[in-house]
Amino acid sequence: MTDFEQGPIRPPSEAGSLLVRVSRNCPWNRCAFCPVYKGTRFSLRSVEEILADLDAMREYYGDAPRTVFLQDANPLLSPTDDLVRVVQAVRQRFPRVRRVTAYARSHTLARRALSELRRIRDAGLDRLHVGMESGCDAVLSLVKKGCTRADHIEGGRRAKAAGFELSEYVMPGLGGRELSARHAEDTASAIAEIGPDFVRLRTTALPPGTELFAMAQRGVFAPLSEIELVAEIRAFLGGLSGVRTRLESDHVLNLLMEIRGDLPSDQARLLAICDEFLALPRDEQARFVLARRLGWAGGPSDIQKPSLRRELDGAIEELRRQGLDPLAAADEIRRRLV
Ligand code: SF4
Repeated sequence: MTDFEQGPIRPPSEAGSLLVRVSRNCPWNRCAFCPVYKGTRFSLRSVEEILADLDAMREYYGDAPRTVFLQDANPLLSPTDDLVRVVQAVRQRFPRVRRVTAYARSHTLARRALSELRRIRDAGLDRLHVGMESGCDAVLSLVKKGCTRADHIEGGRRAKAAGFELSEYVMPGLGGRELSARHAEDTASAIAEIGPDFVRLRTTALPPGTELFAMAQRGVFAPLSEIELVAEIRAFLGGLSGVRTRLESDHVLNLLMEIRGDLPSDQARLLAICDEFLALPRDEQARFVLARRLGWAGGPSDIQKPSLRRELDGAIEELRRQGLDPLAAADEIRRRLV
């Protein structure tokens, strides 16, 4: 038997993980930027169903899995006894697994007793990925995140106190132009209060069909350009002085993937990467942004290759002939990426 159920998404850092579906869909499902579970209903799966999946997975994959990710958006809503049984069963069926992780909502973490979180941690759930998105209440309310800055801070601190490794996702650009400065400042200060092990950048996109896309169409949300996004990330980074964490940029939506390192030691180097891009002449910025969004370049130095520059200049000339601004065209590609 090789029949088991798996959900639609996992964090980029869990690309190689065995996906075990503990709950289905998202209990909140109202975030304005999120298209993932729209039109679906949240449900918890029974322990028996999950254990049957684990048996089928063991038969299918053998002892190969080294990391496991528990799906979907918030498995921590499961009763503690159930989740403990599931995590123990994962550990027992896959003894060579090094790491078991899950998504968790701050709203849930902030309301779970520390003693229950500790039991789940002790059973063998190692790391939680939290979609913080912003530490600014105005932004959280704008995008209907369903939790507050205080929830994020309390939830993050509880996760750390229970012994979990904590990974917080931050979304540059989520406040649009109007809230950009507050978003950067309040998110950095919330991260400083939580002290997560990882901060992962995931640039805001505008997938058609989402409420945020409709807000942008109506003119009530002004998305940041790629250049404004780098300036916002610079402000965010500047607010992280003294914070000890690992900053990751592992999402395809991000422009400068090399903004990754250990803070505080790498802070000056990462700020310099932002400054270098922001100081480029506009034509060079346009060349790199377009190359990155077309998948032709990884980092800014790639566009120095003569053959790539020739191709880029041809593409830019063609866009201009059609009356399109190359930076705006590249922005459009990025905003529609999911
Ligand atoms: S971002 Fe997370 S919490 Fe918000 S709707 Fe999507 S899955 Fe649910």
